Amino acid sequence: MKVLVINCGSSSLKFRFIETESETVIVKGLCERIGTDGGHFIYQKTGDEKQEKDVYLPDHDEAVRVIISELKDEKHGVISDISEIDAVGHRIVHGGDKYAKPEYITPEVLQDIEKLSALAPIHNPVNIMGIKACMHFMPNTRMVGVFDTAYHHSLPEYAYLYGIPYEYYKKYKIRRYGFHGMSHRYVALATARLLKKRYHDSKIVVCHLGNGASITAVENGRSIDTSMGYTPLEGIIMGTRCGSIDPEIINVIANKDNKSLKEVMAVLNNKSGVYGLSDFMSADIRDLSAEYEKGNEDAVRALTTYAYSIVKYIGAYVTVLNGADAISFTAGVGENSALVRKLVCSKLGYLGVQLDEKANETARGETLISTADSKIKVFVVPTDEEMSIARQTSELLFQKFGDEIYD
Ligand code: ADP
Repeated sequence: MKVLVINCGSSSLKFRFIETESETVIVKGLCERIGTDGGHFIYQKTGDEKQEKDVYLPDHDEAVRVIISELKDEKHGVISDISEIDAVGHRIVHGGDKYAKPEYITPEVLQDIEKLSALAPIHNPVNIMGIKACMHFMPNTRMVGVFDTAYHHSLPEYAYLYGIPYEYYKKYKIRRYGFHGMSHRYVALATARLLKKRYHDSKIVVCHLGNGASITAVENGRSIDTSMGYTPLEGIIMGTRCGSIDPEIINVIANKDNKSLKEVMAVLNNKSGVYGLSDFMSADIRDLSAEYEKGNEDAVRALTTYAYSIVKYIGAYVTVLNGADAISFTAGVGENSALVRKLVCSKLGYLGVQLDEKANETARGETLISTADSKIKVFVVPTDEEMSIARQTSELLFQKFGDEIYD
């Protein structure tokens, strides 16, 4: 089956055209700077050279039109007719507490995604734009929504409720939802394979460390706790987001700095994390690492505090799992920063974690970075959210659910 995967951001649209049986990427590409004057289009057919061109992309509609026209192009194309696309898999950030698995996008589902925009005001509206653009150009193709929150549907009530009046859950659905579900699922499946254990018989802590970051406890193939909450602001310290803080701090900053609630929330979302901690040096772990190595105190403070927050969540999640088989690092920082992995793992000796320093320094692709006698294995596992979307889209089309199919 051939699936076109669409991952829409507010000004970008990432796409992959994937053959799902063999999990082969036929084409990958990106539309950038949608809605500005400087639109850019990148298209790469596997085995061919990357094509890049500047092209005016006033909206997502035009972006999808350009993608389809390139997929059908005589020279670089891979299809001769749209009917060769069996389905389009869309990444949807928020599926609320309703969507626990991928769904065909019907008018009712579209309406739900629209309603859920209140919970994901930056993401869901652009996801809808992507869906509508694809429906416009591919009216007869099956559209599937794959939800970032779905993987965390298995959280028990005691893990998703907050210690606030229960009426807020009943009235406003305030609860932990969790995010990065596609990545956590992809990495947990890959980790079980690397462990040579059944997915349904493994206990894994997945650390998705990108600009946004979250940690998930996966027990026997099910997410049982995750660090992001009602929104992606909760949890570990991130690039520019504060992670978990005492809510009273919001009150204090608003009063002392004479800021509105909206302004305080902007500080917590955009000016905090390692960026804020480093006194606005950088949100990029690469820059901070270079300065850390030189002993720059702003960088040392930021990275030490960042790593400490990760250590605390791993400790908590190994506890809720009642022991773990593996800890896996993924996403931009998790896959690339030997320094962050070392800072974190050096504090996990009590769990029997022993880092293989050389393997950690040289890790490329899926790599075991703990020693042979480490009680908990530690891996680097590159994530692939688009492959996860393609897999889940084909699962819906074939009506094959449950991760048993990967055991
Ligand atoms: P997101 O998808 O949340 O934007 P990514 O998973 O792409 O984030 O991760 C982006 C982050 O990864 C960058 O901000 C940077 O801090 C980090 N990163 C990328 N490459 C490296 C590297 N070689 N060393 C350390 N950090 C890196």
